[in-house]
Amino acid sequence: MLNDLKPYAYTADEEDALKKFRNYFHFPQLNGKPVLYFTGNSLGLQPVKTADFVKKELEKWAEYGVEGHFKTDKPWFDYHKHAKNGLIHLTGGLASEVTAMNALSVNLQLLLVSFYRPKGKKTKIMIESGAFPSDQYAIETQVKWHGLDTEKNIIELTPRPKERTLRTEDILAKIQEHKNELALVMLGGVNYYTGQYFDIPTITQKAQSVGAFCGWDLAHTIGNLPLELHNWNVDFAVWCSYKYLNSGPGGVGGAFVHQKHHQSDMMRLAGWWGYEEKTRFQMKKGFLPEKSVDAWQLSNASILPLAAHLASLQIFMEADIYKLREKSEKLTKFLEQVIQTINQEIGAGIEIITPENPAERGAQLSLIMKKNGKKVFEGLQEQNIIADWREPDVIRIAPVPLYNSFVDILKFGEILKQVSINLN
Ligand SMILES: *Cc1c(COP(=O)(O)O)cnc(C)c1O
Repeated sequence: MLNDLKPYAYTADEEDALKKFRNYFHFPQLNGKPVLYFTGNSLGLQPVKTADFVKKELEKWAEYGVEGHFKTDKPWFDYHKHAKNGLIHLTGGLASEVTAMNALSVNLQLLLVSFYRPKGKKTKIMIESGAFPSDQYAIETQVKWHGLDTEKNIIELTPRPKERTLRTEDILAKIQEHKNELALVMLGGVNYYTGQYFDIPTITQKAQSVGAFCGWDLAHTIGNLPLELHNWNVDFAVWCSYKYLNSGPGGVGGAFVHQKHHQSDMMRLAGWWGYEEKTRFQMKKGFLPEKSVDAWQLSNASILPLAAHLASLQIFMEADIYKLREKSEKLTKFLEQVIQTINQEIGAGIEIITPENPAERGAQLSLIMKKNGKKVFEGLQEQNIIADWREPDVIRIAPVPLYNSFVDILKFGEILKQVSINLN
């Protein structure tokens, strides 16, 4: 019975060492009441301090004008570097390997220019079938850009018949099967639709063992699961900062390029902000790259979105991603229990397609609503629940350890149960 889960929810919240972080965020209101927010995987909530961080840069601009680039504290000239500590913590990258820049799809294209270099027989890219559309379009247009055929050069990974998610062993076997033709393996760390978290080190190693590069889109991974990109020997990775990273709509993206690629004169599209920092303002002819991921920067940094980014990164440093992950596993497990209980109690017919194994998922559960899907979703909305609907029948729920509680999940369950009963 759902009621039996109540004591656990209240005790878990009381004992939660991270509970204070909920107060670091603004909660949206609907109908004069705070919402139950489960879409931190889509747009993270706004930290209370973000306004101060952004205002400070606006004031610098008002007060100093162009001098803000050099003559203030945190000069804009290398302002993006203040994001490094937070990104090191979240990605396990070295300072030279991580940067905040541009937006996700832009970074993906920029890094594909460097890491997708079809040559001889090695011309193919392996992706997940049903990858996020932007990633599909990036890959598709890169293949065309090289004058190659997309049908022949994009290999899609599909689950076995009757299965919803991919098995690591199948991914590895597919890489082996195409070992002579593979140029690049490019996957989402956590699949946005199913919530499946891939075994990044194992897949990366396998891809590299057949002479391919391995890149990761971490849109749904960063700030959700702890990462060790340097130790895992990942070639490159990209992410956005408005999902689990709470840095605001259209916030600044980020990129990781492994140290081993910094010295090489890789093909890249360049701009002045990727030029060697020491001599950048000599403005000489001939591009001389920084010996770090910063070489992939093109333009001078967007300071206002970066300011918002710093406000959020500071919270992650204070909370610690490993502790957040510990709580996250418990929250998601509890959500799973709540849904299974509702299924048993009233036969709600909800299928969880996200893997059951905590090592293969992050915060999010994806639910296939077999009965009255869209109507249930609308019923939840009417009751102040913000969740996410994906056609044709999936609701995605992501309890975020920084600001969601066990009681949030319990309340969600109570409302879901009532809405489902009312529709029967
Ligand atoms: C959210 C998301 C994007 C969004 O790309 P933007 O360039 O930030 O608009 C791309 N890929 C994946 C996998 C995503 O989850």
